[in-house]
Amino acid sequence: VQQAGGRLHHLLRSRDEGEGSEAAAVVRLTQADWLLAGGRVLTFDARRPVADAVALAGGRVLAVGRARELAALAGPRTARVDCRGATVLPGLIDPHLHLYGLATRSAHVDCAGAASVGAVLALVRRAARAQPPGTWIRGEGLDEGRLGRLPTPAELDRAAPRHPVRLRHRSRHASVLSGTALRRLGGAAAAASGLVAGRERAIGRLVGPLPPAVLADGLAHAGRELAALGLTTVADATPRGVRALAPLRAAIAGGRFPLRVVAMRARPGWWTPRARLAPGPVKLLVEETERGLEPSAAVLARRIAGAAAAGAQVAIHCVGAATLAAAVAGLAALPARHRRGRRHRLEHVAECPPPFVPALAALDVVVVTNPAFVHWRGDAYRRETSGEAQRWLYRAASLARAGVALAGASDAPVAPPSPWRAIATARTRRTARGAVLGGGERLSAAAALALFTTGAAYALHGDRFARLVPGAPADVIVVEPDPLSAPASEVAATRVRLTLVGGLRAWPP
Ligand SMILES: [Zn+2]
Repeated sequence: VQQAGGRLHHLLRSRDEGEGSEAAAVVRLTQADWLLAGGRVLTFDARRPVADAVALAGGRVLAVGRARELAALAGPRTARVDCRGATVLPGLIDPHLHLYGLATRSAHVDCAGAASVGAVLALVRRAARAQPPGTWIRGEGLDEGRLGRLPTPAELDRAAPRHPVRLRHRSRHASVLSGTALRRLGGAAAAASGLVAGRERAIGRLVGPLPPAVLADGLAHAGRELAALGLTTVADATPRGVRALAPLRAAIAGGRFPLRVVAMRARPGWWTPRARLAPGPVKLLVEETERGLEPSAAVLARRIAGAAAAGAQVAIHCVGAATLAAAVAGLAALPARHRRGRRHRLEHVAECPPPFVPALAALDVVVVTNPAFVHWRGDAYRRETSGEAQRWLYRAASLARAGVALAGASDAPVAPPSPWRAIATARTRRTARGAVLGGGERLSAAAALALFTTGAAYALHGDRFARLVPGAPADVIVVEPDPLSAPASEVAATRVRLTLVGGLRAWPP
């Protein structure tokens, strides 16, 4: 131990116990801010997968090893945490959720929580009584599978005669509008069901943003909720420009949103990353509508090529097999240099018929799947999908075996944001009612956990966030039980004791 400049120099020797061969010396200028000991540390570092203590300083991992080796790094300013047998691991990463949607749930009619069209209309009536006439009533999570059918524009007009109503479909890519709202949109031909598909941006402009305070408070609430789940990085999958990101930037700068955020973009234009906020992939949409694919496969291919030529990673939203075919064709048409190492992403990949499995492996893409959908929506999938196709839904193990990189995401608020529910379901493939959907796609405990650690970090070009090695960001969580050895049912209800982001405590508050 050396003294210099009023600060302690610590010389730490750590030995590779397994090999007994090498000793690495690490010189540090500061004492640890945190010393987490008494737990089982999962490092995700192949050279030393398990350790029993970790020291953090200056927002980074200072050392990982045995508690007695690391004790010398602690000083009077060090916060010592006795983990009491709990598991320490890198903070979880959700590479695809919708942050503003999650933050503003309370300002919306929660259609996902309603069991019938009558219940949705009752919620709309209640919102109409609470809001000034003329203001938009906003709803989220409309699901005809759950409701039996969609509410009609006329029903919404009767429920809210003095308000325009917009209820967004569960997919977030279509909306049911009231008659009043349809007239404001102008020229929009709704389907017989009242559903307007493919005009979400125009509808969004018409409805306008929520009052700033609603979003600011909601972001703070969502930040606490996500940190309490052990998440330290999330990717916002709604592409936004710099101006739309201002409330998030303010929440992060003001210490009201404690996680790191990667923000997807609508086009390749770059912006400068700030503390904890960085630009992410270019998000591209392709959907099956009554008029066929929108955009067409050719237009999608042009957009993929344009973004890739500008140096971007693309993240293509595909749900049905036709959208997957278009995305695969667009990616296959790229010159190899615009594909290799870019980690282009396919989001959801709900349906993946057999021929696509080797095709995805050959393209070197990342599939960002939603394992918890098997829990939350699996019983409906089993009713709505034929036997053979049920095996193609939200594939995981077959893709992994073929060599496709996998990541897991919640897609919240489409489904609840818990990564633990997703990790558990990736292992069991059990629906909420206990049926098995695609049992052949089950992952091991380690592979399921990797969906939200190394896999998700890979999907965000952020590998350093998923390994506890000296110099890595100090994004660390302490959880019970051990996600690698506990039964899946217990993992679904994981308790998060501590969440640190860049060495700052995000949970408990
Ligand atoms: Zn999404």
